[in-house]
Amino acid sequence: MTIEQQVIEWRRHIHKHPEFGFEEALTSAMVAQKLEEFGIEVHRNIGETGVVGILKCGDSDRSIGLRADMDALHIHEQNCFAHTSVHEGVMHACGHDGHTAMLLGAAHELSRSRDFDGTVYFIFQPGEEHGLGAKAMIADGLFTKWKIDAIYAMHNLPGIPEGQFVTRPHSLMASESSFEIDVIATGGHAAMPHMGTDPIVVGAQIVSAMQTIVSRNLSAINETAVISVTEFATNGTVNVIPSQVKITGDTRSFTDEALGKIEKAIERIVAGQCMSAGVEYKYHFNNSFLSTINSPEQTAFAVKAAEAVVGKENVNGNCEPFTISEDFSFMLREVKGCYILVGNGLGECGGTALHNPNYDFNDNILMKGVNYWKVLVEQQLAN
Ligand SMILES: [Zn+2]
Ligand SMILES: [Zn+2]
Repeated sequence: MTIEQQVIEWRRHIHKHPEFGFEEALTSAMVAQKLEEFGIEVHRNIGETGVVGILKCGDSDRSIGLRADMDALHIHEQNCFAHTSVHEGVMHACGHDGHTAMLLGAAHELSRSRDFDGTVYFIFQPGEEHGLGAKAMIADGLFTKWKIDAIYAMHNLPGIPEGQFVTRPHSLMASESSFEIDVIATGGHAAMPHMGTDPIVVGAQIVSAMQTIVSRNLSAINETAVISVTEFATNGTVNVIPSQVKITGDTRSFTDEALGKIEKAIERIVAGQCMSAGVEYKYHFNNSFLSTINSPEQTAFAVKAAEAVVGKENVNGNCEPFTISEDFSFMLREVKGCYILVGNGLGECGGTALHNPNYDFNDNILMKGVNYWKVLVEQQLAN
């Protein structure tokens, strides 16, 4: 069996047996077992179900970390092929099956060739989708137990031609936060609004005023952001003014400064509108992902490795940023590094969107990913 056939088999096996974040018992056991078969030192349960493999060659103290995510989503798969999920309601709809298989393939290849001088850390992370896996590995000492000089990650992306690589220095992807606003009034009879306080009028003013945050509080040049109100719920009925309005939503931004401004600006608007109407409020802001910030130096290294694998014409090292989010962002706050996207394909061949029940990782790009990891290590830890 060729390495490509082997990696395809692993990928389809993982796809068929998907596991949700922090429940990756079978996947992490498979990863640990394969790494041991390759003669790689294995550390289990780093961040609950996370696995770290360590491969050292020569005596240089240089090191590099390569990270893949292993978790699946709570989606009912609509595909019907031999490797369709056998776990009802759980599906690898984000391609983490491919990421895990590619990093295993690279571990296999590097353990055979051993053409580098230094230490490679193969980091198999749990629970990326809920944003807790990277934090859990960091809390378990990923960067204090081990000295990892720089860290890299790769994710597939439908809509980019098969096997093309794209990345950029600085902010590649957005932070993601959610907010919850409760406007607490008295409510009352719809015919006699003057007898009480009305949270709907206040809530509507809050939603309108929030539109000024991006347009009036953030820089048009370097503080791109999105603020979306996604729910507006009341406990009223046709002839009853409600006593409560709940407004929830989601916000994305590319710098920590913009994120901080948004959190404060929403509360300022809520407090001001509620005070002027004489009603109470509760405000809760929750950050799930920080923006993914690539260091320029490591981005140049990642681009160089990708160009060596697929040619200069298939690598864009200065793509536009994406408003999607990734918990590798938390690792990049600990250690400098680079996140790169690899095209999953277009149209019928790999173009189905991430998190769609008909998505599938494109097996044609597996070896491009394996070779990217291998070349990156051989270039960064060159003999
Ligand atoms: Zn995802
Ligand atoms: Zn993903």
